Amino acid sequence: MRSLLQPRYIRMHARDNVAVVVSAGGLAAGSRFPCGLVLVEVIPEAHKVALADLAAGDAILRYGVVIGYANRAIPRGSWVHEDLMTLPEPPSLEDCPLATAVPAPLPALEGCTFEGFRNADGSAGTKNILGISTTVQCVAATVGYAVKRIKSEILPHYPNVDDVVAITHPYGCGVAIDAPGAAVPIRTLRNLSLNPNFGGEILVVSLGCEKLQPVRLMSAGMLPVLEDEPSVAVMQEAQHGFGEIVANIMQLAEKKLKKLDKRRRVSCPASDLVVGLQCGGSDALSGVTANPAVGFAADLLVRAGATVMFSEVTEVRDAAHLLTARAATPGVARDFIREMAWYDEYLRLGGADRAANPTPGNKKGGLANIVEKAMGSIAKAGSTALMAVTGPGERVTQKGLVFAATPASDFICGTLQLAAAMNMHIFTTGRGTPYGLSVAPVIKVSTNSGLAERWSDLIDIDAGRIASGKATVEEVGREIFSLILDVASGRKKTWADRWGLHNEFVLFNPGPVT
Ligand code: CA
Repeated sequence: MRSLLQPRYIRMHARDNVAVVVSAGGLAAGSRFPCGLVLVEVIPEAHKVALADLAAGDAILRYGVVIGYANRAIPRGSWVHEDLMTLPEPPSLEDCPLATAVPAPLPALEGCTFEGFRNADGSAGTKNILGISTTVQCVAATVGYAVKRIKSEILPHYPNVDDVVAITHPYGCGVAIDAPGAAVPIRTLRNLSLNPNFGGEILVVSLGCEKLQPVRLMSAGMLPVLEDEPSVAVMQEAQHGFGEIVANIMQLAEKKLKKLDKRRRVSCPASDLVVGLQCGGSDALSGVTANPAVGFAADLLVRAGATVMFSEVTEVRDAAHLLTARAATPGVARDFIREMAWYDEYLRLGGADRAANPTPGNKKGGLANIVEKAMGSIAKAGSTALMAVTGPGERVTQKGLVFAATPASDFICGTLQLAAAMNMHIFTTGRGTPYGLSVAPVIKVSTNSGLAERWSDLIDIDAGRIASGKATVEEVGREIFSLILDVASGRKKTWADRWGLHNEFVLFNPGPVT
């Protein structure tokens, strides 16, 4: 036990001149580490300590990379925080290496399966949900009303269907529907209704006069499906008021429920999993505990043939040069650079840059700036080659590690990852969030044990055991992997699903409103 009580820090790379204090509750001035280092001041848990004397202008190294420059002399044993550091320039996109360090494929992991719902398009669901898509916000409250009645009056007769979810949103009218940016929310809505957990059944509720007409929402390939059987309810076609409108939606919904109810879970290879990775409320331990453990699980998933997607442009921007080097081909690297450049411009037009990303909570949790946050964030992506890059709201079809470009905002990223066909979500957090999604299960992994203890009925896995030396990155990574298979099979439920904590769909609309 004695060794656990000794002051502890974790240094990520041999070159690093700072390390993260991992002793619970932080450490007092005068605390002495086994290596002889003595703290000259109080350092909170998850914050950085200087391992060497730093002069003004010296590079501050964590993860083996420059996370900032000292703006004054920092003696060994001091607390290295945001106010003492200058932010480095982001890596130049012109100079990023293209597929120069492609990792060799890891040995395949055979025989990993889960019990899922097989879909006609070859994908597999981890839930069996009736989704009701909407073209415009005008119908949202009506659909909400109808869904409440469907859930209480009809759904109990179809016990093999897990849920009924209304895909409601603020888009659809009052927008410049032909502006280039409009393509993003429109394809997001289209691809959301194609999520594998909706079983290929499409039901659309439209107002009638809106800019986003049902034919525009659905792709050409989906139109025959809509024509085959009535799947669109247009409110303005009703002759007998609200009662008729609701009855019509309920009738169409029951037809879909009948079909969905016939489905049963069957054994599916793990390669049918599309696992989205995200973090929210990060701290300096994110890159030490939870994200490396998720990265280990990501490698196992890739080895099992699954799709693993990471996102959050502003949180990978400072690692662009590392990720383009890891791209499987120069073309994939160029796709990645294109998404970074698009987002740089998007932020510039808004009068901001990637430094706008970290939150007060991130900083309180020990993350000095976006470079440090990014280096911790990409640990989630494991160690395999980057196989493909997709734009916001596009559907991901490639297996292996994929970058799906999205903002870092938790709900927008989650919504866009669902549009990309995500059927399982892993979410790491240090500060804590009750985040959840209705469409795909969200497994929450805490970076520190304090959070996992305080929120034992919200956090699914405690990766803080890595900081205290009670578990290794590999052990927690394997735990995450097996929990993914259990939850995907319906054998276990996440805390968010047990409580029914489901955040709203939030679209990314870079286009103008009118
Ligand atoms: Ca996020």
